[in-house]
Amino acid sequence: MSEHKAAPMVDEVSDFEVLEMAVRELAIEKGLFSADDHRRWTEYIHTLGPLPAARLVAKAWLDPEYRKLAVKDGVKASLEVGVDWINDMPTHFGTPSDYCNLRVLEDTPKVKHVVVCTLCSCYPRPILGQSPEWYRTPNYRRRLVRWPRQVLAEFGLQLPADVEIRVADSNQKTRYIVMPVRPEGTEGWSEEQLAEIVTRDCLIGVAVPRPGVTANALRPIHPAVHPVQHDHGHDHG
Ligand code: FE
Repeated sequence: MSEHKAAPMVDEVSDFEVLEMAVRELAIEKGLFSADDHRRWTEYIHTLGPLPAARLVAKAWLDPEYRKLAVKDGVKASLEVGVDWINDMPTHFGTPSDYCNLRVLEDTPKVKHVVVCTLCSCYPRPILGQSPEWYRTPNYRRRLVRWPRQVLAEFGLQLPADVEIRVADSNQKTRYIVMPVRPEGTEGWSEEQLAEIVTRDCLIGVAVPRPGVTANALRPIHPAVHPVQHDHGHDHG
């Protein structure tokens, strides 16, 4: 066993986390919601994943009418994959900010969409689950809008020069998923088979679906400032 010094908490709690705790405690103190409401909401959020969004894309690939609906009215199309943005939050409580205008961005062979929240980390959680850590980093948020082609290349997505990249900036009310182009080699596949290759990263737009690829690429998070120095071993286990 290696000796392992405990890292100071300041290295592990981000400014956003401190802000969240402060606002949450104030909101509970003011009676906007209870600690129990917060617990139920958090538990609910952690049951979510990207499968409903993957199913939405797979259905749209198979059904031209549904595809039109998805592009025109993402909120309505979500109902068919079990996500009701307006009426049926399973926690049965919430503020108007729980409602989002979901937009489905349709890629073509010459247009690639990719999603960011430059202001903070807005993400369509009811249909896509929790955002990955890199999505919330200042690094991704600042750089994607300036150098989208380079950032996508860092994700392993090299796009030909004649493909236009459109970056969609999320906000509190409008959030996005990407409908990538259905890849070759998937002819005759079922909705379930297709949904398996529409990974979270494909739905954010930093990857494109490929037959046989059903997981997101692992990628390291590069600490931005003054990492704590350790003699040896790993930082966070
Ligand atoms: Fe945000």
